[in-house]
Amino acid sequence: MAAAGQRRRRAADPEKTKREKREYYWKNRDKIVEQNKAWRARNPDVMYAAAQRWKKAHPDKEKMYSRAAHVKRKAAKLGTQHPVATLDEILTLEQRCQACGSDAEHLDHIWPLARGGCSALHNLQWLCEHCNCSKGAKTMDEWLGSAAT
Ligand SMILES: [Zn+2]
Ligand SMILES: [Zn+2]
Repeated sequence: MAAAGQRRRRAADPEKTKREKREYYWKNRDKIVEQNKAWRARNPDVMYAAAQRWKKAHPDKEKMYSRAAHVKRKAAKLGTQHPVATLDEILTLEQRCQACGSDAEHLDHIWPLARGGCSALHNLQWLCEHCNCSKGAKTMDEWLGSAAT
């Protein structure tokens, strides 16, 4: 009985853990972003080395370039007040889903592009496919609100 109940709880856990991580991140986002920024500023060599390592480990980075180009084209069409992030800037972002911590392959506009969000570094984050599809053209608040119900 108890074992079966535990198995059921464990099976339900991944979604709950994801949601908790997501909520923690967004509640503490300003603090985390500030800490990351301060850390990066203190460790430019580490950041540079990490970017180089990342580039080496991802020879298929044309995908990244084409994604960056796509973002630029879209931003140029919509017109944006802030400078579009460069690939090197994008490489400084933590390439992990910022919502659930999984491997990320989608560069998301935190404030949706379709709703006037810019393509500057401060409006970009990595999300996994699942989270990005689920978020769609919602803001983080709207998305978290809808995920909670
Ligand atoms: Zn902006
Ligand atoms: Zn995710």
